[in-house]
Amino acid sequence: MQDPTSQLNSLYQQVILDHYRHPRNKERLENGTVEVHMRNPACGDEIKLQLRIEDEIIVDLGFTGEGCSISQASASMMTTLLKGRHVDEALSLTGRFTSMMHGDEAAARDKELKDLRALEGVSKFPIRIKCALLGFDALQEAVKRTREDEA
Ligand code: ZN
Repeated sequence: MQDPTSQLNSLYQQVILDHYRHPRNKERLENGTVEVHMRNPACGDEIKLQLRIEDEIIVDLGFTGEGCSISQASASMMTTLLKGRHVDEALSLTGRFTSMMHGDEAAARDKELKDLRALEGVSKFPIRIKCALLGFDALQEAVKRTREDEA
């Protein structure tokens, strides 16, 4: 499958490839409170995300995985964006990013999304949207499980 990064503008390509080659927080978090394993079989992407949530704050997070540059770079960007955030804030940013991946231009201009905005062009490749959202799917599932445990 052709990697869509080759069709994005070069500045965005650089940001994505930088996160892919030098991923942030890509090591298993040993003292996590929740772990979620997500797969995207269509592309062969896999992400295991660990979060340490204390009093609704994501105090730390890490991931391991393999797959295309979009899936791994997106997960890396996500971890830098969400570390230290309140769970509600993390879910809200996840919603913004998901909207951007589904073509919402206002979301794409939201500077709060930081490096993740480099993935906007991926929204033009429907088959790859799932790649970009994989880490966020794992995050949403992790929050859901944490809240179920506490309920
Ligand atoms: Zn992928």
